[in-house]
Amino acid sequence: MKVKGEPTNVEAARAGSNYRNFPMVPRVIFGPGSFDQLGEILMPRRKHAEAPVVFLVDDVFEDSPLLGRIPLLFDDQIILISASEEPKTWQVDALVSRIRESFSSTPSGIVGIGGGTLLDLAKAVAIMLNNPGETSGYQGWDLVGKPAVYHVGVPTLSGTGAEVSRTAVLLGPDRKLGINSDYTTFDQVVLDPDLTRGVPRDQWFYTGMDCFIHCVESLNGTYLNAFSQSYGEKAQELCEEVFLGDLPEAESREKLMMASWHGGMSIAYSQVGIAHALSYGLSYVLGTPHGLGNCLVFRHLGAYYPEGVRQFGSMLAKNNIRLPEGVCAGLTEHDLDTMVQVALSMVPLWENALGPDWQTQATPEVIVDIYKRI
Ligand code: NAD
Ligand code: ZN
Repeated sequence: MKVKGEPTNVEAARAGSNYRNFPMVPRVIFGPGSFDQLGEILMPRRKHAEAPVVFLVDDVFEDSPLLGRIPLLFDDQIILISASEEPKTWQVDALVSRIRESFSSTPSGIVGIGGGTLLDLAKAVAIMLNNPGETSGYQGWDLVGKPAVYHVGVPTLSGTGAEVSRTAVLLGPDRKLGINSDYTTFDQVVLDPDLTRGVPRDQWFYTGMDCFIHCVESLNGTYLNAFSQSYGEKAQELCEEVFLGDLPEAESREKLMMASWHGGMSIAYSQVGIAHALSYGLSYVLGTPHGLGNCLVFRHLGAYYPEGVRQFGSMLAKNNIRLPEGVCAGLTEHDLDTMVQVALSMVPLWENALGPDWQTQATPEVIVDIYKRI
């Protein structure tokens, strides 16, 4: 079992190689109601009538008016997918087989509509439609040989930054690891803040805190550089307005969507830190969703991120959010040991947080102590 963090630009520089040349989303549309322009955005990308656009949509929208607004033409297909579990490599393989069997031509495009789960699935399906073999073979860095099918991300939940990142995080047969490649990044993103209207309040908070924690970990990391700082500071400021201010709802939705974008840009060129390392352990053993896992861990990290944890406490109180307690209470020593191993394997995250001699501070005892308090 391996769980790994992403080597960063700074590591590449330290290793004496060149700085990494990151792809960015080349086209983005922003604004309430902008989803209705999706039809005209897709039109020039349609190759012919037999090459459909496949829409992967969070099944939370099954009976919602959003489905009727999807610009279907010819043989286009909507595939509804549950986001109740984080995305898996076998799920991508099954979707790719289903799409290949349904159509005589490779699709003109894949559109992912949902939170981080659907966005990552859409990225991975678009890659695998043009590359041979199984999805798990591409978990890692720069293993993708051929460009993906044209793919579009439409976030309906703000915070993960998956809409801007060059990774699609998947649980595979023996590890949770992203497909990190220049071909992973979306060709087009549609940022329509109105699509986040129906998000349950707890989920809004947890995924929003994923963004806030990206900022704290990036801004307080040893990998920090002017590129990451400029995006991280803006994202953090927007999170403070959203979670500590009294913004009108529509403005709050817009600002959180932009915070997610900037937070994603910030970690692209630096790295996350201790909360993410520990959250991966929780997720691996307990299946805890990413945003919630980060929150559960982060409140116990005052020794590492004092100001961020203080602000997090104020955000919890201001928004009347109660985090689950006793989450690790029933765990065996073996479970705890697995969680510690998963967390410690995220080397770049620890190095970003604590510097090159991180192992002197992040001992198994220290980590078990934090887990036992969750
Ligand atoms: P999610 O996509 O898993 O969705 C969480 C819940 O919110 C689901 O029940 C979903 O149905 C619901 N939901 C989404 N939009 C809704 C809406 N508008 N109205 C009502 N309900 C809605 O949540 P997430 O936190 O956005 O994504 C988590 C995933 O993102 C994890 O798999 C994580 O690994 C991944 N992630 C990826 C990156 C990346 O860079 N690729 C970064 C961080 C996290
Ligand atoms: Zn995160």
